[in-house]
Amino acid sequence: MNCLICKQNCSITTINPLVDKYECTNCHTFYVEKGFLGQLEAFETKYGKTKYQLILNEMEKKSKNQIVVFVVDFEQPLVNIKDAIYLELEDLVGLAHIKTFDINSPLTYGS
Ligand SMILES: [Zn+2]
Repeated sequence: MNCLICKQNCSITTINPLVDKYECTNCHTFYVEKGFLGQLEAFETKYGKTKYQLILNEMEKKSKNQIVVFVVDFEQPLVNIKDAIYLELEDLVGLAHIKTFDINSPLTYGS
């Protein structure tokens, strides 16, 4: 199996039907909700490869430094991982300084 982020060989374990654990020598350990994957695909379709790659870059930076769970809603994560941080696609969009963002999930915090 290939790493979601860097496409290298990677071990992927199913944690539960909605969450996979990735163990990549490059990106280290991270978890991905299936719903987040769907959002990521929708993002690529809508905004194109360049912006999509910026998101992947942020994912790689984060997961190299700590255990990250990529979630749809950080208030309702589908898995509980000790010492992990929970990141939504919106957070990554912010970190990547991508301005155009109107993916069809409502913003959960005030703007
Ligand atoms: Zn990787």
